[in-house]
Amino acid sequence: MAKAIVIGAGFGGIASALRLRRKGYDVTLIDKQDQLGGRAYQYRRETPLGTFVHDAGPTVITAKFLFDELFTMFGKRREDYVEFRDIYPWYRIQFADGSTFDYGGTLEQFEAQIAKFEPRDVEGFRRYLKHSKKIFDVGFTELGDQPFDKFTTMLKCAPALLRLQNYKTVYGMARKYITSEKLRRVFSFQPLLVGGNPFNTTSIYSLIFYLVHQPLLFGLVRRLAETAGTSLLVTSRQTLGMPEEFEFPLGPLDESEGAALFEDRARRARPELAVSEESLRALSRRLGGMPLALELAAARAGVQGLAQIEAAGWTAERDFGEALGIPKRQRSLDAVLRESLAMLPEDVRKTFFGLGAFRNGFDAEAALAVADAGPAKLDTLRRWSLILPTEDGDGSLRFRMPEPLRDVAGLGAARIHAHYFADLQKRKP
Ligand SMILES: Cc1cc2nc3c(=O)[nH]c(=O)nc-3n(C[C@H](O)[C@H](O)[C@H](O)COP(=O)(O)OP(=O)(O)OC[C@H]3O[C@@H](n4cnc5c(N)ncnc54)[C@H](O)[C@@H]3O)c2cc1C
Repeated sequence: MAKAIVIGAGFGGIASALRLRRKGYDVTLIDKQDQLGGRAYQYRRETPLGTFVHDAGPTVITAKFLFDELFTMFGKRREDYVEFRDIYPWYRIQFADGSTFDYGGTLEQFEAQIAKFEPRDVEGFRRYLKHSKKIFDVGFTELGDQPFDKFTTMLKCAPALLRLQNYKTVYGMARKYITSEKLRRVFSFQPLLVGGNPFNTTSIYSLIFYLVHQPLLFGLVRRLAETAGTSLLVTSRQTLGMPEEFEFPLGPLDESEGAALFEDRARRARPELAVSEESLRALSRRLGGMPLALELAAARAGVQGLAQIEAAGWTAERDFGEALGIPKRQRSLDAVLRESLAMLPEDVRKTFFGLGAFRNGFDAEAALAVADAGPAKLDTLRRWSLILPTEDGDGSLRFRMPEPLRDVAGLGAARIHAHYFADLQKRKP
């Protein structure tokens, strides 16, 4: 087994060690301190008055999902080991003149604190929040896992970062939106926590502002909707774990619904379409009752017969669908699925590929044996609608993967297989 040594057992070191372990390395984690945690070290002092405990560093979990991911990698659930609690305030900022700012809580609580100092800054705070989302979208979502070891990578990102005014400092960004000097300090001191100086740390660090305040932005959207007397129905590809969320899984269409949808859409492409109800139902079955798969298939009816459509397979890149108004990024089932799969941790993706081996569904035991799919991975795949739970007659739960997804999973497994042998070939002397 290949060996790896990680020096430093802070959050960064622990996370690296776990990821290497998951990749099959024999890992040794070294630290000069006598405890894990790095800046999250906990100091204890025994005194005649009792034991005093001091938390050295972090108090606010800014990216919960990064912790969850580490547990999921090993088929565990973070909740079974560590509890994250909502607290208010996260911290109290005390100014020399005795005034205080209670940091944290809901949008309303934040705005009430801001208004105590300068009511006009409430609006600036909302604009700052929106700007930090843009920084977050580039700095975290797009670049968060990019290694900046090559000049060319940095060069590629430069235009986007410039547009977001990365030449401004964190303090400079706060000054742009906030007028009160005290509030500027409230919204810019955070780089101090990682040893940075707010007066010279690039404003890209303001992405932390969005990361921490994400729920507030949802609050802002909700308030805008309420003010306009509008109800918002927001749907998402996967559950987000928000308190406002209500899970309502949309199952596949049954055979006759699927057949009707296909026929309706196909007639738009070829009004004279004449096919038997039975073959339509068979196609709907073959496509697992997935509305998008049926629509994409129907889009091709103008130039292909049912037999050709069915024989074509569902994973090839193609560009039908414009006539039916299907957005470009959804015109290939393969592309849509690849977009979803790219957002999953690598090991969950591999599990998905492995589960594609089951033709007639599977139970938890078989999933674990064949594809290393423990309960946490199954739950992730279920939340992404990549597998569908079905109640068995005897009260136990089974899962199945719709047919088109199985095709994609098969292709994914074939890609891993091909990469493995290509690598092996390269390593041969
Ligand atoms: C007061 C404070 C509050 C903070 N609050 C938050 C917060 O609320 N939310 C948040 O997300 N972040 C917060 N942070 C930031 C967060 O704590 C750090 O970003 C994070 O802990 C850094 O982890 P790390 O693994 O990169 O580094 P570190 O935690 O610094 O770990 C480095 C480790 O390397 C070890 N080491 C160094 N040199 C050697 C060597 N030569 N040999 C062996 N071992 C070595 C050190 O002993 C240390 O254990 C806060 C930080 C501070 C200081």
